[in-house]
Amino acid sequence: MQEVFGPEGLIAKTHPEYEHRPGQINMAEAVLRAFEQRRHLIVEAGTGTGKTLAYLVPAIAAACGSGARIVISTGTKNLQEQLMDKDIPFLQETLPAKFRAAVMKGRNNYACLHRIKRAETMPVLDGLDQIDQFDEVFRWSMKTETGDRAELSNLPENLPFWRHIDARSDTCLGQKCADFEPCFVTKMRQRAIDADVIVVNHHLFFADLALRNGAYGSVLPDYAAVILDEAHQIEDVASEYFGVGVSNYQIDDLLYDVGGLRLENNEVERELARISARVQRFADAFWVSFKEGRGLEGRFSLAPSRSSSPTMREDVSEPPALAGGSADDEEQAGMPALPGAPHNALDNALYRLETTLAILKEPPPDAENILRRVRELRFALNFLIKADDKQFVYWIERRGRGVFLRASPINVSGLLQDRLFAKVPTVVLTSATLSSAGNFNFIRERLGLDEAEEMIAESIFDFENQAVLYLPPSMPDPRSPQWGRAAADEVIKIVNATEGRAFVLSTSNAGMNELYERVAPQIDYPCFVQGSTSKGALLKKFRETPNAVLFATASFWQGVDVRGEQLSCVIIDKLPFAVPTDPVVAARQRHIEEMGGSSFYEYSVPQAVISLKQGLGRLIRSTSDRGVLAVLDPRVRTKVYGQQFLKSLPPCRVTSKIDELHSVFDDKTNVQSSMSKVTNA
Ligand code: SF4
Repeated sequence: MQEVFGPEGLIAKTHPEYEHRPGQINMAEAVLRAFEQRRHLIVEAGTGTGKTLAYLVPAIAAACGSGARIVISTGTKNLQEQLMDKDIPFLQETLPAKFRAAVMKGRNNYACLHRIKRAETMPVLDGLDQIDQFDEVFRWSMKTETGDRAELSNLPENLPFWRHIDARSDTCLGQKCADFEPCFVTKMRQRAIDADVIVVNHHLFFADLALRNGAYGSVLPDYAAVILDEAHQIEDVASEYFGVGVSNYQIDDLLYDVGGLRLENNEVERELARISARVQRFADAFWVSFKEGRGLEGRFSLAPSRSSSPTMREDVSEPPALAGGSADDEEQAGMPALPGAPHNALDNALYRLETTLAILKEPPPDAENILRRVRELRFALNFLIKADDKQFVYWIERRGRGVFLRASPINVSGLLQDRLFAKVPTVVLTSATLSSAGNFNFIRERLGLDEAEEMIAESIFDFENQAVLYLPPSMPDPRSPQWGRAAADEVIKIVNATEGRAFVLSTSNAGMNELYERVAPQIDYPCFVQGSTSKGALLKKFRETPNAVLFATASFWQGVDVRGEQLSCVIIDKLPFAVPTDPVVAARQRHIEEMGGSSFYEYSVPQAVISLKQGLGRLIRSTSDRGVLAVLDPRVRTKVYGQQFLKSLPPCRVTSKIDELHSVFDDKTNVQSSMSKVTNA
């Protein structure tokens, strides 16, 4: 690794921004050892370590040496693109070993040739303005090599008809498809099979992991090792893919596809239309029957046990009803007063759809696929409505027009142990934030990772001189009525000291709006608030506007990179404890208490420490960055657990004097000796 990363190494000779980083070499050597010894590894590599190259180089060396395929999974598509467009091409030019890399995105990023052709005869467009857009997509689909919608950069991100033409697995005909050979997903898979290194994101990785050994096979080709970057996100992503879910969109899409079936027998086609209308009616009634969170957005616990009335059909092999004999069924389905009646009505209508599809003579390939989806939908709905598996938490999410019913495993550690850590010889987990108070107990416990080497890679940043941590001398309790005013006063003082150039990060929308409304009229710097435009546009404005102040919440706590003076201050209002009313968080906490543990110390505190580190990590992004970190929450000093937060922060100077903040921007030899120091020894 010295030959690659050392001061005289290959990277030093070719990389314009090369900096010698001992932490990077140590990490690269640890990753290489993990491959050689077939062990798991956890590495925390804070900003300034150069972790991407530190895992890519040994991964390439291991793949080329053993001929085994290695998967790299990132937290976001942006990071995937950065690896494929920047880091991997750089290494292909720099390293002597020749290697092939391929990117795999979720299937819904790719166009489906079969569905695009079918769309010509089906109404997929909602308005005239979409005709030009569809034409453009159609022409592009005939000439693109990848079929990846990222190439359509001049069209809006949320094309309304894309979901009717994407290559999602639900609607794929597989080898029965006439377009299987030129299919973009087939080609993507082939490129991945031919590659030494495959770059995916966590959603695709865990979707694949949940499917492996299942009836419908895996998405990724086999691999010998995986590197999971941004590994602090894994528990949440894994619980999404090991869970069960049904949404109103899913039923809408199913009925849309039923409407697209072209059958020889017109009478059966008409019957299917009648059944679809009935499913739609009962689905509408079903969704309306959920009171939880009605009129709001967010995630809400489901009241337990809404089922199971005796009318629910369990036996999917029951002889199918005759076409046209729908009156009894509708009557039965419409039984109003029983608990679970809306579900029974929907289930019966779906059952009728299922049985009608099952007896089609010479069904078109789409019909088989739709039949499978109806069966899966019925199964999922029954599971969700019964809600009797104690290992799951059942909840509902409302977002825009969407209603999502979900069941998530409360603890994914056993699943990950069985399906990932026991099966794949080397799993490397890395992130800028994985430890809490200097240890990895929390992440190991949550993910079920018993056997793993661990290291914290050293950053090249000189936090003592590059950053100062400001803790206000006195603040009220964050739950008190005085909080809002006091927090706003502190933000005003801080941004005046730093001349704006600040992110003010809140733990809630309400907190963000209150701070924005109180602070913006009282300062002379341009203020932006999250929600006023897209995240990308907001960041662009912030970067381009001198002395700006941006008020934001969770989505700006991670993955945001503003280098240089433009961002010289990050203010965090409250310690970012997960919202205890969130159904999944509440279930995890309850589970820890039931096992005799303390959910506060074993879950809430370490999880909040990791989030706080993410937020504060926005500040120092290069060796020349300087800035102020501010945590307004007094509990960081007044509570015993506050020590765990302080111990986990970068080793910077600490002050409670507002007039000392400027010192961090002075020459680094002028360090104020009156300040104390955060050490994480
Ligand atoms: S194989 Fe599947 S994804 Fe590919 S074109 Fe056919 S239906 Fe679409």
